[in-house]
Order: sequence, then structure tokens, then C-alpha cells
Amino acid sequence: MRTPIIAANWKMYKSPAESVKFIREFLPMIESHGDSEVVLFPTATSLVSVIDAVRGSVIRAGAQTMHWLNEGPYTGQTSPTMLTSIGATHVLLGHSERRLYANETYEHVNLKIKAACAHALTPVVCLGEMLSDRQEGYTADTLMAQMGAALANFPQDRAHTLVIAYEPVWAIGTGSTASPEIANETHSIIREELKRRFGAEIADEMRILYGGSVKPSNVAELMAQPEIDGALVGGGSLDPETFSQIVRFGHRDKPERPA
Ligand code: PEP
Repeated sequence: MRTPIIAANWKMYKSPAESVKFIREFLPMIESHGDSEVVLFPTATSLVSVIDAVRGSVIRAGAQTMHWLNEGPYTGQTSPTMLTSIGATHVLLGHSERRLYANETYEHVNLKIKAACAHALTPVVCLGEMLSDRQEGYTADTLMAQMGAALANFPQDRAHTLVIAYEPVWAIGTGSTASPEIANETHSIIREELKRRFGAEIADEMRILYGGSVKPSNVAELMAQPEIDGALVGGGSLDPETFSQIVRFGHRDKPERPA
């Protein structure tokens, strides 16, 4: 059985003080949250404060992006060793907003995934089609091309450490969620490709999260799908009460729908 992951992408929100306040309120709310892994991805300037605030708890924290090299003349970048030196455990890679606004390509993602694994950082790799891809019947082709570039020459013996986040671009921040059936079907396409690349045993261990307008009212239904192993949550993760409900209802053993 794959342990679910419920992850928060805070994007460019929350100062260090606001992040710590969130964690103080949030921690007691998820005391009996089951065995999902909970990961926070704050903005870079809040990461150290978040790591300090979650120390000793079940929550882990990571960066929203990173460079693949350890150091060099790359203004504005953060390296894998810089992240591990402050206690980060995860890194988000290939988010559609970084692909759209920061020219991140899946060739970059490929270098970053390999660097993350070399430094024992868990990469959460985002994939997802545009609305036009889906409408024109190119969802599977788009995902294959993204995985082809992102996972090129990725060593099979490290593959179980990868986490994939399927985030249809048309569902991010729009309020339109993929239906549980569509999300499950698309996750199956991704897992089939992972099986082809890494073998069935490894692919069956890998977590595939769904992201795109996840909220307390839809998370249980999404998590009840056999291929959905967790959620990557943007807007719904900014308020501690709302995110704690997503964590509580997002447990696989609790498929009941919130009122
Ligand atoms: C995201 O940005 O990763 C995301 C899923 O955002 P939202 O939940 O707001 O759609």
C-alpha cells in the first residue's frame, strides 16, 4: 500500500512570520490525521523558518525549485546542497508556473531530478496538459513527451524515490477540478508509462499525486480513486483550517465526504 502524501504549494505567499503562525495553528489540527505524509513548500525566504517550526513533528518541508549544480555564478538560484544544509527533505520540480514564467523545461527538470536524488532530496515532479491538449485528444501524448524528457536516463534503482504530481494546467487555480474518474484514468496512463520505464514492481510503489483546485469538498472523492496517492494543493493550503480538513479528509481510509 502506498503511503499518501498531502503537499502544500504556498507559491509566492506567506512571510516567515506568517508561515510560523500557520504551523502553530495547523499542527494541533492534524494530530490524528492518520498516516499521510504532509509536506509544505513555502517560498524561499520562509523555508528556514518553516523547517525550524516543523522540527519534531510529522511535517516535512521543501523548496519550490532548485538548480542542479552545487554552486556557481547563477544569480538567484539555490543548490541541492544549500537545501539539504538547512534540513529540506523535498523539492518541487517542473511546476507549470515555473515552466510558463521562468522558462523551466523538462530537460532542466531531468538534471534537477538527478541532482535531487543524488542529495537524498525527494523530488515531486509536476506533469500536466494544457486545456487545448485535452480538448484535441493529446493528453496522453503530452504526458509521454513530458516524462520522456524529465525521466531520460533516470536510474531504475532510484525510481522508487520519485513522486509524480499530475497537475492539469486547466485545473490549477481555476476552481475546476478534474473529475475523480478523469484524474484516475490519467494517473493510470502515467503509471503504465512508469511500468514500461522502471518495471511493474517499482512503478507500483511510486506515488502519483493529483493537483488542481483540491479542496475539502472534493479531496475524499479524489483520494478514493485507486491510482490517486495524494494531493498537491495550492490555494486550499493557505489557510490552516482548510488545509487541515484536506489532510484529514484526504486519507485513503476515510473516504467519507465532508459536509
Ligand atoms: C498548484 O499550484 O500546484 C495547485 C495545485 O494550485 P491550486 O490548488 O490552487 O489549483
